[in-house]
Amino acid sequence: MRAVCVLGILIGIVGSGYVLFQNSQGAWREKAERMVKTQLVPRGITDSVVLQAMLNTPRHLFVPPKVRHLAYGDHPLPIGYGQTISQPYIVALMTQLLELKGNEKVLEIGTGSGYQAAILAQIVDSVYTIEIVKPLCEQARKRLDSMGYKNVVVVCGDGYKGLPQYAPFDRIIVTAAPPEVPKALLEQLKPGGIMVLPVGTTFQKLIRIHKKDDSTYVSEDIIPVRFVPMIKQEE
Ligand code: SAH
Repeated sequence: MRAVCVLGILIGIVGSGYVLFQNSQGAWREKAERMVKTQLVPRGITDSVVLQAMLNTPRHLFVPPKVRHLAYGDHPLPIGYGQTISQPYIVALMTQLLELKGNEKVLEIGTGSGYQAAILAQIVDSVYTIEIVKPLCEQARKRLDSMGYKNVVVVCGDGYKGLPQYAPFDRIIVTAAPPEVPKALLEQLKPGGIMVLPVGTTFQKLIRIHKKDDSTYVSEDIIPVRFVPMIKQEE
């Protein structure tokens, strides 16, 4: 009798633990679904691979615990060291603007939390991402690693220089704002490639650049934006 009781209690404990686990899993998925339905689709995010990646990524695991409950809200959030994770809509918009097919090699400048890199990693072949703030860089590398993203290389360093050793890239995305388009990045973009970035200081705009061949570029203005400035490292 006693053994049966103990067994019953054990089953109860394990069972409620499982229910709690299910709830926490379900809770973030519901939030991600609401985020996609209310923030992305109504604003014109239509690329199904982008929507799917935004649905499948646990954004709350990319922000500090004290703001975790706000992770799926319609705003950027602080991630420490004066930096931020972009608003979900901006992440989705920039990803959609890259017109990804799936076989690309993408360079990201400004790893931050690693969230944008995680979104890209689910869509393309390989992602190289550079972060200048060492602790953020190491944290993002650890985070992406532990979450099982095998096709992301996180490099700690200065994004103004790009990564000539891995160039050329099919796509480049910059998630901090330089005052003007960094020349090294233009050079490391493949002809036929696309770069999406915010440019400007007090006033910034999101632009998309198509590289036609080695010397010609077409630039399009997308929307006014507000990003953290891209940090210029002293030589
Ligand atoms: N994409 C990030 C958000 C980026 S916030 C995410 O998904 O969370 C912009 C990031 O760019 C910050 O982490 C900042 O430290 C980094 N950054 C600023 N200047 C840089 C530079 N010159 N090279 C590389 N990273 C830079």
